[in-house]
Amino acid sequence: MYEREKQAIIDAALEIKAAGLIHMTGGNISVRMPNGHIIVTPSGMPYETMVPDELIVVDANGNKIEGEYRASVDTVALLHIFKNIPEVNAIIHTHQPYATAVGLITDELPACTTTLCNACGGSVFVAPYSSAASLDMGVKAVENLKGRKAVILKHHGVIAVGANLAEALFSAIYLEDSAKTYLAARAAARNGKVDILTGEEADAAVEVFKDYGQKPK
Ligand SMILES: [Zn+2]
Repeated sequence: MYEREKQAIIDAALEIKAAGLIHMTGGNISVRMPNGHIIVTPSGMPYETMVPDELIVVDANGNKIEGEYRASVDTVALLHIFKNIPEVNAIIHTHQPYATAVGLITDELPACTTTLCNACGGSVFVAPYSSAASLDMGVKAVENLKGRKAVILKHHGVIAVGANLAEALFSAIYLEDSAKTYLAARAAARNGKVDILTGEEADAAVEVFKDYGQKPK
């Protein structure tokens, strides 16, 4: 079941790994199908050798529908996010170092670049600490997404979301890019003060992106 979608998840996992957002068997990716089934990567297995059959399909309550292995330990949190945000159909969880570092010094990565606005919908908030693999991780993620396409989990990593896998991937990768820029600017600034986009400029950057890329004719 869902061979093509499962392969797309494996491809995305390899892409975030190549981008340095995860190492070893870290993180997880999950995608909700139109019928409500959710595909989740297995717990603690290497992505390089992963085949579609190793992914797990569960229903909205976490009951296993297909798959031999144990789903990601964060599944309870992921299901909470899917349940509470209907427009989210893909979640990428990473331990990306730069965005995580931002979460250690502030409660919000401000709208400092147009790419952050494009990919994440504006500034990105930091959720208070929650234990990995807990429902609390999902609850705090939902509370702090606030309409954005990513949230930083304090002392842990990032949850990037999207209406589809491509959107979540875009969000995770460009969030890391902007976090690097932000930290470099803060480190270089004499007083640590960084210029950020005005609310109006940030909104315009979100708007303009809606026209980005190729549209079907
Ligand atoms: Zn994690």
